[in-house]
Amino acid sequence: MADSANPFLAPSTLPYQLPPFGEIRNEHYRPAFDAGMAEQLAEITAITADPAEPTVENTLIALERSGQVLQRVATVFFSLSSSDATEFGTALEEELAPLLAAHADAIRLDPALYARIASLQERCDSLDLDPETAYLLERYHTEYTLAGAALSDADKVSLRDLNMRLSTLTTRFEKNLLADTNDLAVVIDDVAELDGLGDGEISAAAGAAAERGLTGKYVITLVLPTSHPYLASLTNRAVRERLLTASRSRGIRGGEHDNRELVLEITRLRARRARLLGFASHAAYVTADETAKSPEAVAGMLDRLAPAAARNARDEQQALQAAVRDSGGDFELAAWDWAFYTEKVRQARYDVDTSAMRPYFELERVLHDGVFYAATRLYGITFTARPDLTAWNPEARVFEVANEDGSPVGLYIADFYTRDSKRGGAWMNALVSQSTLLGTPTIVTNNLNVPKPAAGSPTLLSFDEVTTLFHEFGHALHGLFAQVTYPRFAGTNVYRDFVEFPSQVNEMWMLWPEVLANYARHYRTGESMPQELVDRIRESATFNEGFATSEYLAAALLDQAWHRITADDTVADVAAFEAAALAAVGLDNPVVPTRYASTYFAHTFSGGYDAGYYSYIWSEVLDADTVAWFTENGGLTRANGDRFRDRLLGVGGSGDPLAAYRSFRGRDAHIQPLLDRRGLD
Ligand SMILES: [Zn+2]
Repeated sequence: MADSANPFLAPSTLPYQLPPFGEIRNEHYRPAFDAGMAEQLAEITAITADPAEPTVENTLIALERSGQVLQRVATVFFSLSSSDATEFGTALEEELAPLLAAHADAIRLDPALYARIASLQERCDSLDLDPETAYLLERYHTEYTLAGAALSDADKVSLRDLNMRLSTLTTRFEKNLLADTNDLAVVIDDVAELDGLGDGEISAAAGAAAERGLTGKYVITLVLPTSHPYLASLTNRAVRERLLTASRSRGIRGGEHDNRELVLEITRLRARRARLLGFASHAAYVTADETAKSPEAVAGMLDRLAPAAARNARDEQQALQAAVRDSGGDFELAAWDWAFYTEKVRQARYDVDTSAMRPYFELERVLHDGVFYAATRLYGITFTARPDLTAWNPEARVFEVANEDGSPVGLYIADFYTRDSKRGGAWMNALVSQSTLLGTPTIVTNNLNVPKPAAGSPTLLSFDEVTTLFHEFGHALHGLFAQVTYPRFAGTNVYRDFVEFPSQVNEMWMLWPEVLANYARHYRTGESMPQELVDRIRESATFNEGFATSEYLAAALLDQAWHRITADDTVADVAAFEAAALAAVGLDNPVVPTRYASTYFAHTFSGGYDAGYYSYIWSEVLDADTVAWFTENGGLTRANGDRFRDRLLGVGGSGDPLAAYRSFRGRDAHIQPLLDRRGLD
């Protein structure tokens, strides 16, 4: 195959440099990865071989410009491996993982390159750099140092081995999880057992069965978290038990998809790597380069919240047990009953039936009249469907985003339906990152896992799915509004314990009166959601927060516990370790399982949130404080939106994030709004 035929070797000529998905074939990937890695190594050699004194231009900026072919192919390949995995892609991913890890190490551990960066860093005060370039230098120096660039040659060899082994193990973890999640989908023979589900959900289950060659049966596919949304409505207790048990069985059934040994080996190797780099634990190593700075700071926050959350959950449990008795039940509430009786109590106490909301949450209205509408009111941006532009799957739709004056912002790609080829959860990623240095625009994507309704039926979202869409769109805005020079700083390229903050803030518009009134209309009659229902949703906002906070904190603490082990610790039993870690913080209530158990905790074992799952609540402090600011300052206005866009979203990672926060808020964040929101006082 001639190189010219490989679409990754040159920038795309499509609008916004949209990858030419129609032209990309399986046989293009491996040669493009090989060419991309070779090209970048040659670029690095050119930098280090330069006899001239290191300058920002000949070292730092040359580094920022390097590796564009690799960047193009990797972005597309890994987007697809999450959104539309194929057997070919999965096999290639496993093959590439150690090569890419070795490639990254070859650059970050290059002694000549590090010496040039260190030399610049030493002279930084005399270089007269603009603030973004000074920050770029500091970030490179810190990241390369933390990556091991200052280690001895012998230690570097050990580090490379560890990195390569870890990348193989984490890839295998994810592959096992996807396979076990598909294997454990719950097969139902009789539709009567699905009592409580809506017509759309039942036809989705029939469709999922047909896709697996089980025509006439029903299949409930698992979601990533422990709790499945259908647990709230399935009236058949035995089916609920089967569903939750299947969810919790992932990775612990023995056989080829068991993740227990991987959990033990991954955490052991991460601890060893941390020691090699001079840290007591992987958690210490990770948090050193976050806004949190130490595991003790994280523990201080989580420990402050855990007792109140556990106490609130116990109160909720009593109310649920009473509801079991009231409805004639003669059993002790189990984990699979929680959501079901929560709905009963919610209805009794607030008269809010969350399934009655679905008809008001039709996907297209939510997207156009809710999510896009809020963004138009805040930022003046508009969205135009571009059916002429194709993405990776016909279900992924492309929208062009423009400013009020018509100037381009970027492309937004929406891929909302669940597929067996898509990993669980919801996420945003950038296909092309904005940079004035490289002259690149922005393309961002949102992936959700909404069950696909029967052909011809509308997609009616749950309350949580609407929240998720607003959330992921918040990440998308962070990417779309990037206004930076260097590509490594664009949009969501910020500290991990900061990155959730803008997306969480965007959730506030879901229930904002003007926004809700604009989109929450009955899909058949067009009638607005009744004001009463709206009021009751608001009143019930802190309802069940004991459970929600507990299951989240339990997972966050578990992630920290696994990563605070030292290289001398020996852990041999995953279940025993989990139990002890949860008991130590009082979050071991069997009726409130962790949001993820270790063997299917993708965030921490394959998703890049290792020792970082605390980030969500960490950034929620900023989120709640920001919601308070918007509320105090008139809410949904262009002035408020522009301030948030200019001072926070557009800055991306190009400066100290907490300084950007202060610039936006006028002070540091306060924790009280978070405690109020979650009822944790
Ligand atoms: Zn998020």
